[in-house]
Amino acid sequence: MTRIIDGKQLAAQVVDDVATEAKLFLDKHGVKPGLAVVLVGEDPASQVYVRNKIKRAEESGLNSIEHKLPADIDQNTLDQLIDQLNQDPAVHGILVQLPLPDHLDENAVINSILPAKDVDGFHPVNVGLLSSGQDAMVPCTPLGCLIMLRQVMDDLTGKHAVVVGRSNIVGKPMAALLLRENCTVTTVHSRTQNIEQICSEADILVVAVGSPEMVKADWVKPGAVVIDVGINSVEHDGAYKLKGDVDYQAVAPVASAITPVPGGVGPMTIACLMKNTLTAATQQLS
Ligand code: NDP
Repeated sequence: MTRIIDGKQLAAQVVDDVATEAKLFLDKHGVKPGLAVVLVGEDPASQVYVRNKIKRAEESGLNSIEHKLPADIDQNTLDQLIDQLNQDPAVHGILVQLPLPDHLDENAVINSILPAKDVDGFHPVNVGLLSSGQDAMVPCTPLGCLIMLRQVMDDLTGKHAVVVGRSNIVGKPMAALLLRENCTVTTVHSRTQNIEQICSEADILVVAVGSPEMVKADWVKPGAVVIDVGINSVEHDGAYKLKGDVDYQAVAPVASAITPVPGGVGPMTIACLMKNTLTAATQQLS
Protein backbone atom coordinates (compact mmCIF):
# COMPACT_ATOMS: atom_id res chain seq x y z
CA MET A 1 0.00 0.00 0.00
CA THR A 2 1.35 3.43 -0.95
CA ARG A 3 1.58 5.88 1.92
CA ILE A 4 0.20 9.31 1.20
CA ILE A 5 2.27 11.83 3.15
CA ASP A 6 -0.33 14.27 4.44
CA GLY A 7 1.34 17.68 4.43
CA LYS A 8 -1.66 19.44 5.93
CA GLN A 9 -1.75 17.18 8.96
CA LEU A 10 2.01 17.23 9.44
CA ALA A 11 2.10 21.02 9.07
CA ALA A 12 -0.60 21.36 11.73
CA GLN A 13 1.56 19.25 14.03
CA VAL A 14 4.63 21.42 13.36
CA VAL A 15 2.60 24.57 14.01
CA ASP A 16 1.23 23.05 17.26
CA ASP A 17 4.76 22.24 18.42
CA VAL A 18 5.93 25.78 17.55
CA ALA A 19 2.94 27.23 19.46
CA THR A 20 3.86 25.21 22.56
CA GLU A 21 7.50 26.34 22.37
CA ALA A 22 6.51 29.94 21.60
CA LYS A 23 4.43 30.02 24.79
CA LEU A 24 7.43 28.84 26.82
CA PHE A 25 9.55 31.46 25.03
CA LEU A 26 7.07 34.18 25.97
CA ASP A 27 6.99 33.04 29.61
CA LYS A 28 10.78 33.04 29.76
CA HIS A 29 11.62 36.21 27.83
CA GLY A 30 8.45 38.31 28.10
CA VAL A 31 8.22 38.68 24.32
CA LYS A 32 6.84 36.55 21.52
CA PRO A 33 9.17 35.35 18.76
CA GLY A 34 8.79 38.08 16.12
CA LEU A 35 8.57 37.63 12.36
CA ALA A 36 8.76 40.65 10.04
CA VAL A 37 7.30 40.05 6.59
CA VAL A 38 8.17 42.54 3.86
CA LEU A 39 5.95 42.69 0.79
CA VAL A 40 6.87 44.99 -2.10
CA GLY A 41 4.18 45.71 -4.70
CA GLU A 42 0.82 44.11 -5.40
CA ASP A 43 1.61 40.79 -7.07
CA PRO A 44 -1.56 38.73 -6.35
CA ALA A 45 0.26 35.44 -5.69
CA SER A 46 2.71 37.16 -3.32
CA GLN A 47 -0.18 38.82 -1.49
CA VAL A 48 -1.81 35.41 -0.94
CA TYR A 49 1.48 33.87 0.27
CA VAL A 50 2.06 36.74 2.70
CA ARG A 51 -1.50 36.59 4.02
CA ASN A 52 -1.11 32.86 4.67
CA LYS A 53 2.23 33.36 6.41
CA ILE A 54 0.82 36.07 8.69
CA LYS A 55 -2.22 33.91 9.53
CA ARG A 56 -0.03 30.90 10.30
CA ALA A 57 2.31 33.07 12.43
CA GLU A 58 -0.62 34.12 14.58
CA GLU A 59 -1.74 30.51 14.99
CA SER A 60 1.82 29.63 15.99
CA GLY A 61 1.90 32.19 18.81
CA LEU A 62 4.40 34.40 16.98
CA ASN A 63 4.26 38.16 16.68
CA SER A 64 4.03 38.95 12.98
CA ILE A 65 4.78 42.41 11.67
CA GLU A 66 3.84 43.12 8.07
CA HIS A 67 5.57 45.84 6.04
CA LYS A 68 3.74 46.63 2.80
CA LEU A 69 5.74 48.78 0.43
CA PRO A 70 4.73 50.31 -2.90
CA ALA A 71 6.01 48.62 -6.10
CA ASP A 72 8.05 51.71 -7.05
CA ILE A 73 10.00 51.89 -3.79
CA ASP A 74 13.70 52.62 -4.32
CA GLN A 75 16.54 50.35 -3.24
CA ASN A 76 17.79 52.79 -0.64
CA THR A 77 14.46 52.95 1.22
CA LEU A 78 14.15 49.16 1.19
CA ASP A 79 17.74 48.84 2.48
CA GLN A 80 16.92 51.25 5.30
CA LEU A 81 13.91 49.19 6.34
CA ILE A 82 15.99 45.97 6.40
CA ASP A 83 18.62 47.78 8.43
CA GLN A 84 15.98 48.92 10.92
CA LEU A 85 14.56 45.36 11.18
CA ASN A 86 18.07 43.94 11.65
CA GLN A 87 18.51 46.21 14.66
CA ASP A 88 15.04 45.74 16.16
CA PRO A 89 15.28 43.35 19.15
CA ALA A 90 11.57 42.48 18.81
CA VAL A 91 12.20 41.10 15.31
CA HIS A 92 13.86 37.68 15.32
CA GLY A 93 13.10 36.66 11.75
CA ILE A 94 12.93 38.70 8.52
CA LEU A 95 11.27 37.45 5.38
CA VAL A 96 11.26 39.47 2.18
CA GLN A 97 8.66 38.01 -0.17
CA LEU A 98 10.22 37.20 -3.53
CA PRO A 99 10.23 37.93 -6.40
CA LEU A 100 10.91 41.65 -6.05
CA PRO A 101 10.09 44.14 -8.82
CA ASP A 102 12.79 44.17 -11.53
CA HIS A 103 14.36 47.52 -10.57
CA LEU A 104 15.35 46.15 -7.14
CA ASP A 105 18.48 44.07 -6.56
CA GLU A 106 17.22 40.82 -5.01
CA ASN A 107 20.67 39.53 -4.09
CA ALA A 108 21.59 42.81 -2.40
CA VAL A 109 18.42 42.59 -0.31
CA ILE A 110 19.03 38.95 0.67
CA ASN A 111 22.65 39.74 1.55
CA SER A 112 21.62 42.69 3.74
CA ILE A 113 19.51 40.55 6.11
CA LEU A 114 21.42 39.51 9.23
CA PRO A 115 22.19 35.77 8.82
CA ALA A 116 20.81 35.16 12.33
CA LYS A 117 17.44 36.63 11.26
CA ASP A 118 17.44 35.05 7.78
CA VAL A 119 14.51 32.66 8.33
CA ASP A 120 14.34 31.91 4.58
CA GLY A 121 17.90 30.55 4.69
CA PHE A 122 18.90 32.36 1.48
CA HIS A 123 21.80 34.45 2.87
CA PRO A 124 25.21 33.27 1.56
CA VAL A 125 26.36 32.63 5.15
CA ASN A 126 23.51 30.18 5.70
CA VAL A 127 23.99 28.66 2.24
CA GLY A 128 27.68 28.15 3.08
CA LEU A 129 26.96 26.66 6.50
CA LEU A 130 24.47 24.20 5.01
CA SER A 131 26.85 23.29 2.17
CA SER A 132 29.62 22.58 4.64
CA GLY A 133 27.32 20.33 6.67
CA GLN A 134 27.03 22.72 9.62
CA ASP A 135 24.02 24.00 11.54
CA ALA A 136 22.33 26.61 9.40
CA MET A 137 19.03 28.30 8.84
CA VAL A 138 17.70 25.83 6.28
CA PRO A 139 15.34 27.09 3.53
CA CYS A 140 11.75 26.28 4.44
CA THR A 141 10.72 24.13 1.47
CA PRO A 142 13.66 21.67 1.63
CA LEU A 143 13.31 21.55 5.42
CA GLY A 144 9.63 20.64 5.00
CA CYS A 145 10.57 17.96 2.47
CA LEU A 146 13.09 16.45 4.89
CA ILE A 147 10.52 16.32 7.70
CA MET A 148 8.16 14.54 5.32
CA LEU A 149 10.85 12.04 4.30
CA ARG A 150 11.55 11.31 7.96
CA GLN A 151 7.88 10.45 8.42
CA VAL A 152 8.26 7.45 6.14
CA MET A 153 11.97 6.58 6.40
CA ASP A 154 13.78 5.77 9.64
CA ASP A 155 17.20 6.41 8.17
CA LEU A 156 18.17 8.14 4.95
CA THR A 157 21.79 6.98 5.12
CA GLY A 158 23.10 5.49 1.90
CA LYS A 159 19.89 6.06 -0.05
CA HIS A 160 20.21 7.31 -3.60
CA ALA A 161 18.38 10.64 -3.70
CA VAL A 162 17.70 12.33 -7.02
CA VAL A 163 16.70 15.99 -6.92
CA VAL A 164 15.08 17.31 -10.09
CA GLY A 165 15.74 21.07 -10.32
CA ARG A 166 18.69 23.20 -9.17
CA SER A 167 17.14 26.48 -8.03
CA ASN A 168 18.66 28.36 -5.12
CA ILE A 169 15.45 28.15 -3.12
CA VAL A 170 14.61 24.46 -3.55
CA GLY A 171 16.85 22.18 -5.62
CA LYS A 172 20.32 23.21 -4.41
CA PRO A 173 19.54 23.42 -0.67
CA MET A 174 17.54 20.16 -0.94
CA ALA A 175 20.58 18.42 -2.40
CA ALA A 176 22.84 19.88 0.32
CA LEU A 177 20.42 18.78 3.03
CA LEU A 178 20.17 15.23 1.67
CA LEU A 179 23.96 15.05 1.46
CA ARG A 180 24.08 16.14 5.12
CA GLU A 181 21.72 13.21 5.80
CA ASN A 182 24.30 10.86 4.21
CA CYS A 183 22.34 10.20 1.04
CA THR A 184 24.10 9.68 -2.28
CA VAL A 185 22.76 12.69 -4.15
CA THR A 186 22.30 13.34 -7.85
CA THR A 187 20.93 16.66 -9.07
CA VAL A 188 19.36 16.80 -12.51
CA HIS A 189 18.13 19.82 -14.45
CA SER A 190 17.00 21.05 -17.85
CA ARG A 191 20.33 20.19 -19.52
CA THR A 192 20.62 16.70 -18.05
CA GLN A 193 20.72 13.79 -20.47
CA ASN A 194 18.86 10.54 -19.74
CA ILE A 195 16.85 12.19 -16.98
CA GLU A 196 14.21 9.42 -16.89
CA GLN A 197 16.91 6.78 -16.46
CA ILE A 198 18.58 8.68 -13.59
CA CYS A 199 15.26 9.30 -11.85
CA SER A 200 14.34 5.63 -12.16
CA GLU A 201 17.38 4.71 -10.06
CA ALA A 202 16.32 6.90 -7.11
CA ASP A 203 15.27 5.59 -3.71
CA ILE A 204 14.19 9.16 -2.95
CA LEU A 205 12.92 11.40 -5.74
CA VAL A 206 12.37 15.10 -5.01
CA VAL A 207 10.92 17.05 -7.91
CA ALA A 208 11.02 20.87 -8.07
CA VAL A 209 10.70 21.96 -11.67
CA GLY A 210 7.46 23.87 -12.32
CA SER A 211 6.26 21.60 -15.16
CA PRO A 212 2.86 19.96 -14.58
CA GLU A 213 2.91 16.15 -14.30
CA MET A 214 6.33 15.84 -15.93
CA VAL A 215 7.41 12.79 -13.93
CA LYS A 216 5.69 9.66 -15.21
CA ALA A 217 5.35 6.18 -13.72
CA ASP A 218 8.28 4.74 -15.70
CA TRP A 219 10.60 7.42 -14.23
CA VAL A 220 10.05 5.97 -10.76
CA LYS A 221 11.68 2.92 -9.18
CA PRO A 222 9.10 0.64 -7.53
CA GLY A 223 9.06 1.41 -3.82
CA ALA A 224 10.69 4.86 -4.15
CA VAL A 225 9.62 7.76 -1.94
CA VAL A 226 8.43 10.66 -4.10
CA ILE A 227 8.28 14.26 -2.90
CA ASP A 228 6.51 16.60 -5.30
CA VAL A 229 7.38 20.26 -4.71
CA GLY A 230 5.78 21.60 -7.89
CA ILE A 231 2.77 23.88 -7.78
CA ASN A 232 1.27 24.48 -11.19
CA SER A 233 -2.07 26.07 -11.93
CA VAL A 234 -3.55 24.15 -14.85
CA GLU A 235 -6.75 24.95 -16.75
CA HIS A 236 -9.20 22.10 -17.22
CA ASP A 237 -12.68 22.61 -18.68
CA GLY A 238 -12.54 26.32 -17.87
CA ALA A 239 -11.56 25.79 -14.23
CA TYR A 240 -8.09 26.05 -12.70
CA LYS A 241 -6.65 23.17 -10.69
CA LEU A 242 -3.34 22.82 -8.88
CA LYS A 243 -1.08 20.10 -10.24
CA GLY A 244 2.31 18.95 -9.09
CA ASP A 245 5.36 18.15 -11.20
CA VAL A 246 4.58 14.45 -10.76
CA ASP A 247 1.79 12.57 -12.54
CA TYR A 248 0.23 11.61 -9.21
CA GLN A 249 -2.38 9.14 -10.46
CA ALA A 250 0.18 7.17 -12.45
CA VAL A 251 3.09 7.38 -10.00
CA ALA A 252 1.28 6.73 -6.68
CA PRO A 253 0.80 2.98 -7.34
CA VAL A 254 4.53 2.59 -8.09
CA ALA A 255 5.89 4.57 -5.12
CA SER A 256 6.01 3.38 -1.51
CA ALA A 257 5.13 6.90 -0.35
CA ILE A 258 4.20 10.13 -2.13
CA THR A 259 3.15 13.70 -1.35
CA PRO A 260 -0.06 15.02 -2.93
CA VAL A 261 -0.55 18.43 -4.57
CA PRO A 262 -2.23 20.36 -3.07
CA GLY A 263 -1.87 19.35 0.58
CA GLY A 264 1.74 18.15 0.46
CA VAL A 265 4.88 20.26 0.49
CA GLY A 266 3.02 23.62 0.32
CA PRO A 267 1.63 23.63 3.89
CA MET A 268 4.94 22.29 5.21
CA THR A 269 6.86 25.22 3.70
CA ILE A 270 4.83 27.74 5.70
CA ALA A 271 4.98 25.62 8.87
CA CYS A 272 8.77 25.47 8.54
CA LEU A 273 8.93 29.26 8.32
CA MET A 274 7.33 29.31 11.78
CA LYS A 275 9.79 26.69 12.98
CA ASN A 276 12.73 28.71 11.64
CA THR A 277 11.46 31.89 13.31
CA LEU A 278 11.23 30.11 16.66
CA THR A 279 14.74 28.69 16.15
CA ALA A 280 16.09 32.14 15.26
CA ALA A 281 14.45 33.72 18.32
CA THR A 282 15.73 31.00 20.62
CA GLN A 283 19.28 31.31 19.27
CA GLN A 284 19.25 35.11 19.57
CA LEU A 285 18.12 35.10 23.20
CA SER A 286 20.15 32.16 24.46
P1 NDP B 1 12.86 27.46 -10.78
O1 NDP B 1 12.17 27.84 -12.04
O2 NDP B 1 13.69 28.45 -10.08
O3 NDP B 1 13.77 26.17 -11.08
C1 NDP B 1 13.28 25.11 -11.83
C2 NDP B 1 14.36 24.09 -12.01
O4 NDP B 1 13.83 23.03 -12.79
C3 NDP B 1 15.59 24.62 -12.74
O5 NDP B 1 16.76 24.16 -12.11
C4 NDP B 1 15.44 24.03 -14.15
O6 NDP B 1 16.68 23.70 -14.76
C5 NDP B 1 14.71 22.75 -13.87
N1 NDP B 1 13.96 22.33 -15.05
C6 NDP B 1 13.13 23.04 -15.81
N2 NDP B 1 12.62 22.29 -16.81
C7 NDP B 1 13.15 21.07 -16.66
C8 NDP B 1 13.03 19.85 -17.39
N3 NDP B 1 12.25 19.75 -18.45
N4 NDP B 1 13.73 18.79 -16.95
C9 NDP B 1 14.53 18.88 -15.87
N5 NDP B 1 14.68 20.00 -15.12
C10 NDP B 1 14.00 21.08 -15.54
O7 NDP B 1 11.72 26.88 -9.85
P2 NDP B 1 11.66 26.67 -8.24
O8 NDP B 1 12.72 25.74 -7.80
O9 NDP B 1 11.52 27.98 -7.58
O10 NDP B 1 10.24 25.95 -8.14
C11 NDP B 1 9.98 24.71 -8.74
C12 NDP B 1 8.52 24.35 -8.55
O11 NDP B 1 8.27 24.24 -7.17
C13 NDP B 1 7.53 25.39 -9.05
O12 NDP B 1 6.36 24.72 -9.49
C14 NDP B 1 7.20 26.20 -7.83
O13 NDP B 1 5.93 26.81 -7.90
C15 NDP B 1 7.24 25.13 -6.78
N6 NDP B 1 7.52 25.61 -5.44
C16 NDP B 1 6.76 25.12 -4.45
C17 NDP B 1 6.99 25.47 -3.16
C18 NDP B 1 6.14 24.87 -2.10
O14 NDP B 1 6.10 25.39 -1.01
N7 NDP B 1 5.49 23.75 -2.39
C19 NDP B 1 8.05 26.42 -2.79
C20 NDP B 1 8.88 26.82 -3.90
C21 NDP B 1 8.59 26.43 -5.18
P3 NDP B 1 17.76 24.83 -15.21
O15 NDP B 1 18.42 25.27 -13.95
O16 NDP B 1 18.67 24.08 -16.12
O17 NDP B 1 16.99 25.92 -15.87
